[in-house]
Amino acid sequence: MTETSEKLAVLKLAGVKKTYHSGREDLEVLKGISFSVNEGETVSIIGPSGSGKTTLLGICAGLDQPSSGEVALCGQDISGLGEDERAAVRSESVGFVFQNFQLIPTLTALENVMVPLELRGERGAKARAKELLEKVGLGDRTTHYPIQLSGGEQQRVALARAFVNKPRILFADEPTGNLDADTSEPIVDLLFGLNKTEGTTLVLVTHDLELAQTTDRLLRIDHGQLREISSSDANE
Ligand code: ADP
Repeated sequence: MTETSEKLAVLKLAGVKKTYHSGREDLEVLKGISFSVNEGETVSIIGPSGSGKTTLLGICAGLDQPSSGEVALCGQDISGLGEDERAAVRSESVGFVFQNFQLIPTLTALENVMVPLELRGERGAKARAKELLEKVGLGDRTTHYPIQLSGGEQQRVALARAFVNKPRILFADEPTGNLDADTSEPIVDLLFGLNKTEGTTLVLVTHDLELAQTTDRLLRIDHGQLREISSSDANE
């Protein structure tokens, strides 16, 4: 790999393994995964249920640690870092969208979006959060609590929260998994719009093959291994 392409990698995994120790048997979910994602790329990870997609995404985003192997996020090796240090890297460079939205129920839509900025002690959090809620079409829902919002609206709040710190890389775990087709469309448009306008790198886990086939690259995980496949192989 040349020095230039090395610099462009916003995510790089080398020999990542993950074993869960629970119950009577150890479960090796990831058996040595290596791949990299360059700045501005859109990538989908597909694979059967239970194959380790969520585990892999969490490790890529620094939410969890591998059992062994290396993870570099925006040029920084995060595999040996403790939770606080990984949280600082996430706050600086990463956005994350969960399938079940994970909004804080006691905070309004606006307050939920402000959280990442307040954690960083940034000024102007309210104005920026408002701007983002308007961008996702929820300018009239700022004072609503999550329970007062539909699933699609909650996911748009979650997206606004994920964008608010202008991440270089956005991870989304089944971002449309809990939504029907009509509600999914604006979420997908927002994700890809962010990639186009801001150059945000996008790494998605999805079981929606149509969505997966719209990304630049397609990776399939199975039996603990990750393999790059072509769009036409996705249906096999
Ligand atoms: P996917 O997202 O592809 O459905 P997951 O990454 O959620 O797969 O899970 C992969 C496997 O690891 C599953 O068998 C799951 O039961 C197991 N697993 C996931 N998280 C844990 C955990 N915290 N402790 C023990 N086993 C886990």
